[in-house]
Amino acid sequence: MKKTNKAEDLRKKLTYKRKNFWEAASEQEVKKAFDFAEDYKAFLNLCKTDRETISYFEELLAKKGFANLDDNPQGKKIFRISRKKNAAIAVIGKRPVKEGVNLVVSHIDSPRVDLKQNPLHEDGTTQLGILKTHYYGGIKKYQWMSTPLAIHGVFVKQNGETISVSIGEEEDEPVFVMPDLLPHLARKEQYTKKIGEAVAAHHMNIVFNSVPFLEKENKEIKEAVKLNALILLNEKYGIIEEDFLSAELEVVPAGKARDAGIDKSMVLGYGQDDRICAYTSANAIFDISANDKTAIVYLADKEEIGSEGNTGAKSIFILDFIADLLKYNGEAYDSATLRKTLINSQILSADVNAAINPNFPSVHENENAVHLGFGVSVTKFTGAGGKSGSNDANAEFNAKIIGIFNAEGVNWQIGALGKVDEGGGGTIAKYMAEYGAEVIDCGPGLLGMHSLYELSSKADLYSSYKAYKAFFEKA
Ligand code: MN
Ligand code: MN
Repeated sequence: MKKTNKAEDLRKKLTYKRKNFWEAASEQEVKKAFDFAEDYKAFLNLCKTDRETISYFEELLAKKGFANLDDNPQGKKIFRISRKKNAAIAVIGKRPVKEGVNLVVSHIDSPRVDLKQNPLHEDGTTQLGILKTHYYGGIKKYQWMSTPLAIHGVFVKQNGETISVSIGEEEDEPVFVMPDLLPHLARKEQYTKKIGEAVAAHHMNIVFNSVPFLEKENKEIKEAVKLNALILLNEKYGIIEEDFLSAELEVVPAGKARDAGIDKSMVLGYGQDDRICAYTSANAIFDISANDKTAIVYLADKEEIGSEGNTGAKSIFILDFIADLLKYNGEAYDSATLRKTLINSQILSADVNAAINPNFPSVHENENAVHLGFGVSVTKFTGAGGKSGSNDANAEFNAKIIGIFNAEGVNWQIGALGKVDEGGGGTIAKYMAEYGAEVIDCGPGLLGMHSLYELSSKADLYSSYKAYKAFFEKA
């Protein structure tokens, strides 16, 4: 008897099935996805910190014909940078700004290990120079042990002079390490403990140097190893120990982002949370052709510590920028107009999601989890437990966004952050929603998020770019 296809036809018509980008995309689209990833890797290598990311975009914005809003510019393409750590980039649309903007917000800080303000010590037991650290954001401390590290950041001297530092990325530069304990002697110190306690913050000291300063006549130099470190730093950077007190020095994994997988379909690299969204949203705004509404890319700092501080998304920066856009566009810019502009606005909170991990599938719920390579994720809510701390986007806005993605050929999927009650986390979405705008989370999934080497798919990277571009042009 011939098998009927009716059930199959109905299944196709009625059921939702996320699409694997590699199966769904045309040959040209696949090529575009691979090509897009090349410059992305170069970007990741240049931008390992908040400051480096903003200065990268500052340079690029000039090349792309964007003008600083504070330089009395003309034209539709403008930007503002605040305190070298966050930025807003805008393309003014045909419609008045007060009708609402289309904004994509991402963050350009990543979990890392900062140096303490007074970091340099000579360890009395080992006679090694060490740097003490204070971790930043949600890290698994044990991952940072016994792996090559680089130091990036700035010394700001009291006369205002800024000295940029980057050691450990070039072949001829030294790297640094926080040595882990050998397994032979870890029985009591580590193996009896919970994994989160096996490496404590006070174990996270960097071995900085080992050779003491020598003087023929003087055999009793106090802390000669530390002194030698200071001498080397003074020769290289012209700094003294007190300059550490006003420095921002960030410790990150040394080395470059790489293609991953035998098919080179993925990218392995540090800081993709959330520079993958910074990169894709910025490239989207660079490439938009015609936008009715004003498009804004907001690159925020300090998301990993709760969007705090005057460079984080809770600060007044973006409101001030939009108010100034109203003024720049010749519109009213009183506080009532600004409030209405915000309420009329649409925002994509562009942050990464946790893709389902083949090693730990149990923390996810397959049908609702993000799958690597299945396109950009549209995430209605984040939070923990009963959606606590979540934005929980409105169904109407959710429908509008996925409608645009379908119409524009964006490979997208839904995505929830893990099983209910498994854990949870938040994004910038809820802070943006406080302004009254429509907000939804939208970004690619990663494997190994917040680890030293996060894994992304070139399919999702490219789909995110297409998603943000479609949003700017059609929403
Ligand atoms: Mn993030
Ligand atoms: Mn994060």
